[in-house]
Amino acid sequence: MIACILFIAGIILLVSLLKNRSNPSQKNHPQAKTVKTVRCPTCGAQAIVRGRTWDCGYCGDCGNYSSLK
Ligand SMILES: [Zn+2]
Repeated sequence: MIACILFIAGIILLVSLLKNRSNPSQKNHPQAKTVKTVRCPTCGAQAIVRGRTWDCGYCGDCGNYSSLK
């Protein structure tokens, strides 16, 4: 049983390593379409919207995207 679990864990590790290697070139395409920016209500800088939340890279503030509108 333990050997089986270790084997599966090894495969998952290998797959995640392979994904991390091939991601950088592929990441830009889907992100370029989905990345939105909003004005940070705290400092006024551009905050990146991720899904339903926004994240300000300038002051580090974050919150719900829906609460901005
Ligand atoms: Zn901010």
